[in-house]
Amino acid sequence: PDNEAPPMPWFGMDIGGTLTKLVYFEPRETNRRELDKETEVLKNIRRYLTRNSAYGKTGRRDVHLQMDNVTIRGRRGTLHFIRFPTSEVGAFLQLARSKGMADLVNTIYATGGGAYKFEEDFIKEVNMRLSKMDELDALIAGVLFVDCMNAQECYYWAPPDEQAVHTHVTDSPPYSEAALSLYVRKPFDFSSPYPFLLVNIGSGVSVLVVNAPDDYYRVSGTSLGGGTFLGLCCLLTGCSSFEEAIALAASGDNTTVDKLVRDIYGGDYARFGLPGDLVASSFGQMCSAERRAKVSRADLARATVVTITNNIGSIARLCASNEGIERVVFCGNFLRVNPLSMKLLSYAMSYWSRGALKALFLEHEGYFGAVGCLLHLDS
Ligand code: ADP
Repeated sequence: PDNEAPPMPWFGMDIGGTLTKLVYFEPRETNRRELDKETEVLKNIRRYLTRNSAYGKTGRRDVHLQMDNVTIRGRRGTLHFIRFPTSEVGAFLQLARSKGMADLVNTIYATGGGAYKFEEDFIKEVNMRLSKMDELDALIAGVLFVDCMNAQECYYWAPPDEQAVHTHVTDSPPYSEAALSLYVRKPFDFSSPYPFLLVNIGSGVSVLVVNAPDDYYRVSGTSLGGGTFLGLCCLLTGCSSFEEAIALAASGDNTTVDKLVRDIYGGDYARFGLPGDLVASSFGQMCSAERRAKVSRADLARATVVTITNNIGSIARLCASNEGIERVVFCGNFLRVNPLSMKLLSYAMSYWSRGALKALFLEHEGYFGAVGCLLHLDS
């Protein structure tokens, strides 16, 4: 173990536009002496975090993402993944204070816009200084570390006939649940990843070209991201949470909302390789009062997912072909509990590149920034 390592507890925090992600490293006790040295407060914090999976009203631990046997700075232990809405930072600080964190931790390693926005509150409420790290540096460090520690981290969605190159006009986009259900999740060996495109879909979207661990740049982005999806969905359907929006979308049909190529052509636009089932105009049917009267909340939710996802897919594809990159890795919490978007992105990457591009996904979705922060607790 490294003698210069900062004292426990070790945290990494990413205070994003919508969600705050907190990663906690629980050391595996190696000897009696260390156990004796552990203070009562530290013990209580560890117990509280590792024995519960809900904290206050809105804090959640993603138990299924827990990583055992991780080594950081020569210490072996377990990584725990916790999230809560950024709007609840105040409640988090109160909780941290009540658990005695203020007496124990004087610096917390943080990234995301909230590390700037809430800096004063952390000092005032719990006497904690935020040591800030750039969010894109943290994101990439986190992706590379987690992928290295977890052989199952990277995966893709294999289409029904994986060998076939999907360039035929008849290869319709998988808008129906029946078509989507044929996609199977398979592990992807990401051990020689470079170069790759990293598309982080949070509240907004950032697109990065990654050539090596320390060689990357941001090529593009869009403000039409996960926040847009949730915002529009709340407006259109009256839903009030991301989970509800995704569940609604899963039972809807976007083809009653969108205008498809076949609604305009009566079939495929074969000359330019556009299948009849493709969306020609997102929400294009909604100018008709008659159509609006027939549409359901679920249809509107699904059309919103499809619109946002296809737009991101299209930007990602343009960036990848511009940069001559084949592997496109998607992350961010917009993909949480959202196989619909992942499968649509998989189809879009493959179809529009004539099979040249591969869409890849990561198990720990939105936590990489927080992990990257934790890794830099020595700086
Ligand atoms: P940020 O750092 O901008 O907060 P995230 O990667 O955490 O970005 O992703 C935020 C997005 O994830 C939201 O805009 C929403 O689309 C989606 N999301 C997933 N789970 C939730 C949740 N429980 N509450 C709110 N948004 C969620």
